Amino acid sequence: MVIDGKTKTCGLIGNPVEHTLSPLIHNTLAGLMGHNFVYVPFPVAEGRVDEAVRGAYALDILGMNVTVPYKSEVIGSLTAVDELAAQIGAVNTLVRTDTGFKGYNTDMSGLFRAMTAEGIRIEGEEILLLGAGGAARAVAYLCASQKAKKVYLLNRTLDKAQKIAEEVNRVFAGEVIIPMRLSDYSNLPERRFLAVQATSVGLAPHDDEVIIEDAAFYQKIHTGFDLIYKPFTTRFMRLVKDAGGEACNGLKMLLYQGIDAYELWNRTTVTQKDADAVYEKLRSATNPC
Ligand code: NAP
Repeated sequence: MVIDGKTKTCGLIGNPVEHTLSPLIHNTLAGLMGHNFVYVPFPVAEGRVDEAVRGAYALDILGMNVTVPYKSEVIGSLTAVDELAAQIGAVNTLVRTDTGFKGYNTDMSGLFRAMTAEGIRIEGEEILLLGAGGAARAVAYLCASQKAKKVYLLNRTLDKAQKIAEEVNRVFAGEVIIPMRLSDYSNLPERRFLAVQATSVGLAPHDDEVIIEDAAFYQKIHTGFDLIYKPFTTRFMRLVKDAGGEACNGLKMLLYQGIDAYELWNRTTVTQKDADAVYEKLRSATNPC
């Protein structure tokens, strides 16, 4: 990589940022596509997000990713926000405009591309969504916007599931999201579902943990999509496969949220060949054996 006076810079703001895989995604894409571009992580201390965004704009930074814990807080520092990102209330990508940064949510568009790449449909499906944190919220919006038939939103803390359901059902003027207490999973209808695992249970180093232990629950799942990608094969995925279903992890979601951001910043389209090459790098970085 040659850095010169014309190099365009993008970066990541969050806290912490030390373990991020985003530089691998973006710097690999820049190399493959021959762009004079560099991507750098910037740790931002609590209370300094607005300063960081203004500073980045003054420094002619082309765009930024935003990670935990600033995906909502950053909205107050933007001059425009994409409609769906505004509804979700979370932004993970800032794109430079003539007046300031505009915010997007490529976590959600990236998940949709990842699901499409895995041959998973949302439209017309009945879906189990496990979790009601930040990621699950975006998944609930994605499912409603892509016309899922029903989404059973199961969470340990019921009122968080109820809050998301009320909000999404209001925005999409329907009753698509049905909140449930996680422990009530045996009350689900007798059929097979697409299940999205959006809790943090099972995330490395807690590889042996899983959100629901009961093997009978996994008979209800035809396809399990775990947002976790470390470990590469989660216990949730193993239980889905043991019950005869298909399972995939969240690595392609990570890949495509990055590709969507890269395309927005550089006004380009990443080819499938380049996307596959980046995926292989991510796979080696997260699953070295
Ligand atoms: P979050 O906001 O902290 O939410 C955590 C969720 O996990 C909540 O629903 C919480 O339930 C549930 N939970 C945590 N510990 C639990 C336990 N012991 N028993 C039952 N439920 C438990 O986290 P997030 O940002 O939504 O992230 C969720 C997962 O998605 C993480 O593993 C993250 O790595 C992954 N993710 C992946 C990508 C990707 O690109 N692949 C992107 C974003 C996130 P309560 O509400 O009851 O506390």
